[in-house]
Amino acid sequence: MATAVKRKTIYEEQREQGVTRREFLKVATAITMALGLKLKMVPTVVHAMETRPRLPVIWMDFQSCSGPTESFIRSYQPNMQKVLFDMIALEYNGALMAGSGTAAEEHILKIMNEYPGEYILAAEGSLPLLPGALTIAGRPAEETFREVAAKAKAVVAMGSCATWGGIPAAKPNPTLAKAVTDFVPPGVPFIRIPGCPPIGEVMTNTLAHIVIWHAPEVDELARPGVLSPPAARQMPTPPVLMLVCTPRRLTTRVLGKALAVQARCRGPMTYNAARNCAGTGA
Ligand code: SF4
Repeated sequence: MATAVKRKTIYEEQREQGVTRREFLKVATAITMALGLKLKMVPTVVHAMETRPRLPVIWMDFQSCSGPTESFIRSYQPNMQKVLFDMIALEYNGALMAGSGTAAEEHILKIMNEYPGEYILAAEGSLPLLPGALTIAGRPAEETFREVAAKAKAVVAMGSCATWGGIPAAKPNPTLAKAVTDFVPPGVPFIRIPGCPPIGEVMTNTLAHIVIWHAPEVDELARPGVLSPPAARQMPTPPVLMLVCTPRRLTTRVLGKALAVQARCRGPMTYNAARNCAGTGA
């Protein structure tokens, strides 16, 4: 029977790489800032990095254009990419890894056996029900997904195809595509991060949240709070926010942001999925 292996903490790994205590604290502070947290949260982030190992992540793409992966590696926050690779161990990603074939598939099995109940399964794209429409190493993709998901700590569905079915599931849906969340085994928690592609910072923040604390709270559609804060969703859009969100009437981005906050828009604080909103400047 597979047992979990005792792993080094993030701090221990960094010390082994020659990182000094001072440099480590700088990294922890940078992570805190990149996550949009207040400075007083630095000790919490430091404690998490001192006591927890990096989070193993198996990232599988199915009927996908790899948009979520592209968005993930292009998150625009300074050093976000480095920050997250200090906190997670991206063990498998078909679009990014050099290996393929038997070696790659065996690596998934290795991670599943070494870290049962500890790894995150990030999935992008939809899953087809049509026999033969999508196979991985000769097996139906749906079968592989269920197997990997069954031992995961949680499944994070990245992008609209994974969360709702997206473009592949649009009529006439020739492959009988469905959202990956429809295939998550009972009892395994899942999070939906919609968007086409989803915003990189929402994906990275969700994973970082799991490393530092636990899985973020989700709304009734299983979306993380950072993406759709209940307070923001329940508020009616005041006329001034309509004005702010009209780019032609926006004098400066700073003014727009200030007005948006005044109008109770939470985009600037929540890193909301409002990239095209002139008011938040996100
Ligand atoms: S949601 Fe959009 S970006 Fe993501 S896989 Fe589907 S088409 Fe691509």
